[in-house]
Amino acid sequence: MEHFSVGVVGTGYVGLATGACLAYVGHRVTCLDNDLERVASLREGRIPFYEPGLEELMARSAGRLRFAGSERLAEVAGEADVLFVAVGTPQGGDGSADLSNVAEVARAIGRSLGGSTPREFPLVVVNKSTVPVGSAYYVSTLVGDGIDEAGGEGAEFRVASNPEFLREGSAVHDSLFPDRVVVGTDSKEALDVLRTLYTPIVEQSFPTEWDPRPKVAVPFVTTDLASAEMIKYAANAFLATKISFINEVANLCELVGADVSEVAYGVGLDDRVGSRFLSAGLGWGGSCFPKDVAALRATAREYEHETPLLDAAAAVNERQRKQVISKLQRDLHTLKGKRVALLGLSFKPNTDDLRGAPSLTIASALNSLGARVIGYDPVAGKAAAQLAPDIQAVFDPYEALRGAHAAVVVTEWEEIRGLDPSRAASLMREPKLIVDGRNALDAAASQEAGLLYRGFGRGYDRG
Ligand code: NAD
Repeated sequence: MEHFSVGVVGTGYVGLATGACLAYVGHRVTCLDNDLERVASLREGRIPFYEPGLEELMARSAGRLRFAGSERLAEVAGEADVLFVAVGTPQGGDGSADLSNVAEVARAIGRSLGGSTPREFPLVVVNKSTVPVGSAYYVSTLVGDGIDEAGGEGAEFRVASNPEFLREGSAVHDSLFPDRVVVGTDSKEALDVLRTLYTPIVEQSFPTEWDPRPKVAVPFVTTDLASAEMIKYAANAFLATKISFINEVANLCELVGADVSEVAYGVGLDDRVGSRFLSAGLGWGGSCFPKDVAALRATAREYEHETPLLDAAAAVNERQRKQVISKLQRDLHTLKGKRVALLGLSFKPNTDDLRGAPSLTIASALNSLGARVIGYDPVAGKAAAQLAPDIQAVFDPYEALRGAHAAVVVTEWEEIRGLDPSRAASLMREPKLIVDGRNALDAAASQEAGLLYRGFGRGYDRG
């Protein structure tokens, strides 16, 4: 197999998983970041965030995986066949994606190319960050500007879009065993390079000790730039809408006396629907769904086009978070002086990521209503306390429950699913209310243990 020299700019969840995975399957990879503390920690084999299995994958790829500060971009770009851009694209003030990191990197790549000796083959610049349709063209222009700035002539490059679909918490698995690899480009050279680069993953021909499943070839989807960029947004918008859909149904279930867990099970068995992403509760959050839905709506606005379905998905989601507060108010009445435990703070289980985490908005709403908020999370407690002064972080779930009038299940970590309801009831103060924002607990067992259980659309919601 042909092995490439690869650069990856950005060592977050996506860049690091991509770099470690490509090194693991045989390529020589240098990951770059402008956060030098992060680079120093990576050089010691430590990742600066929580992602199960990623340190192990890095260790297994050690001989082929290096880390460097961004100031070494020119050197890395000079040697690389492929350069991935995997920097953050946070939500801008108007909802659109903030492309300033991508733009900065694109210009710097151009300056590196312009200042170097002529190349035998063009550098393939790959956008892995989630960027709005048209960004590949924008990147291409900025790389060109950088080349001009450096006074370079004939520095050749090609641009491709290769959106990422990994999920935090299972980034290693998703990088090695993806559902699909999508490449958008108008360059045959770029497509050939990326097809070869991904061959070990597409053919599942790399050695693996930890996944005994039969190897199934991964679809390699080739398309134009705009479609590749749109695939990413459409995928996330669909998943977010699916959750909002079941939340809409959950709200109706509460009115008519049905149990949304039963309904979702019955609906999800239809393989046209599928059972995943049909869990009702306090809605979606995180570093991707909210910003990607907002960016897609912002793109539509640029064309003066309306997106009623996406608007509704976002509105339903916002309402779900507010429902946590109204469910607390219904049983606690005034929240002033009440002690409320938040169980789980990260935006979902198996990650420490707090970006767009419902816990933060719920804590701030509770705080403004005079409640005292105690938070527990297996990995994100310390970071949450630093980020949100509204939350007093403790490091044991039962400690959070001690003396609490109410608890909200915000993130369904296994440990929180497995809470002992009797122990919880013995520690809590009347009315011992549990608002289960993820429908994760055993409702009947909780009631029997003396907790006042309220789920979302489950029939345990009426007093
Ligand atoms: P992240 O915030 O975890 O990491 C981004 C990294 O880029 C950081 O280490 C930061 O220091 C570095 N960086 C920023 N600007 C830089 C610059 N100018 N030069 C060098 N380094 C720079 O981000 P992430 O979660 O890995 O996401 C990266 C992109 O991938 C985003 O566009 C995101 O939407 C997309 N994405 C994320 C996920 C996910 O689950 N996190 C999944 C799919 C796609």
